[in-house]
Amino acid sequence: MPFSENDVLALDAVDPLARFRDAFDLPEGVIYLDGNSLGPLTKAAKRRVTETLEAEWGRGLIRSWNTAGWIDLPAKVGAKIAPLIGAAPGTVTAVDSTSINLFKVLAVALAKQPERRVILTEAGNFPTDVYIAGGLADLLDRGHEVRQVPAARLAEAMDDSVAVVMLTEVNYRIGARLDMRTLTAKAHAAGALVIWDLAHSAGAFPVDLAGACADFAVGCGYKYLNGGPGAPAFVYVAPKHPPGLKQPLHGWLGHQAPFDFAAGYQPADSIEAMRTGTPPILSMAALDAALEVFADVDLAAVKAKADRLFDIFTSILATRCPKLELLTPTEQNARGTQVSLRFPDAYPVMQALIARGVIGDFRQPDILRFGLTPLYVRHIDVWRAADILARIMESRAWDRPEFKVRAKVV
Ligand SMILES: *Cc1c(COP(=O)(O)O)cnc(C)c1O
Repeated sequence: MPFSENDVLALDAVDPLARFRDAFDLPEGVIYLDGNSLGPLTKAAKRRVTETLEAEWGRGLIRSWNTAGWIDLPAKVGAKIAPLIGAAPGTVTAVDSTSINLFKVLAVALAKQPERRVILTEAGNFPTDVYIAGGLADLLDRGHEVRQVPAARLAEAMDDSVAVVMLTEVNYRIGARLDMRTLTAKAHAAGALVIWDLAHSAGAFPVDLAGACADFAVGCGYKYLNGGPGAPAFVYVAPKHPPGLKQPLHGWLGHQAPFDFAAGYQPADSIEAMRTGTPPILSMAALDAALEVFADVDLAAVKAKADRLFDIFTSILATRCPKLELLTPTEQNARGTQVSLRFPDAYPVMQALIARGVIGDFRQPDILRFGLTPLYVRHIDVWRAADILARIMESRAWDRPEFKVRAKVV
């Protein structure tokens, strides 16, 4: 039996996470279900970027590298992300993009496995992950192969040819979640190293990198962490891999003593060896401020509420729109916090939804995606979004030429 409007209003009235919504600067009249792609602006980030612009850059000028602590921001932001992903202090830094961080850790991991040639990943992993691995294999020119197998066959594909298992915990298209602990253990038993991409995990639900014994991880600052468009990403290196790793992008800020301007490269003796060049301070400040919200957030409660939002959304649609096929696993542990639905005309349906103030997104060729982000999405929001989607489906309101025009970014 689907939830009634009164049922969901009652859930909102007693929701312990409701107080976090006020930390966000959401536009009126929008139900935002795309925080899995771009988290919304926080009030803290808005204040902080203004202050960084006016006081730190405007008046402090170059002195602010020291006086405002700009130089240590990557480590400071990394320290805020670490507890969200089960990482020990000093094992995470905020730097570069997810793609570039993946390149660095994959290069480090492959260098530790000189006898092996296979990079194993899931078929249907996010394209940048597969492209980066392919590009690195080409660059190394030592016969590395990127082997892509379906999720269900990953474990059996872990043989003694596999150098590195490179996986994204939550699949961006369907929202299915891999079992990090089990797959990491299997990979290690086969003698492989493991890299996890946490783009759709960090800030969405509890992650336990240390508990799973992962070797490396990367993740995104602008999705569930709400750092803003193009926010710095993060990288994790397990303490069992000695600090001072020689990742291949020998930038001066990864050097032990950047301001010695020494002739030769010596990596820093810490996670900061993963740094390359000058950090984007405005973006870094926005991410640092956005992470304040997480200081007293219980991610288990976030996942529990996301699961309830999932139930509200999917039960309404199952009753009213049987033609929308649910792609996301119904088992709670087998998914992250997004919902994906399949429909042949998904693109115009999403445009019609956006025109009515419900923002989700579309993925090729026929997928509607909705991010369920409990810090600012209420039970009533997903109830209304499902109702609006159902009305669009029932009336075929999506079937109009203007909704079929494809934009550059979808
Ligand atoms: C969003 C996402 C990325 C993004 O990479 P960028 O370098 O920030 O563009 C990478 N991997 C996965 C799995 C993602 O979902």
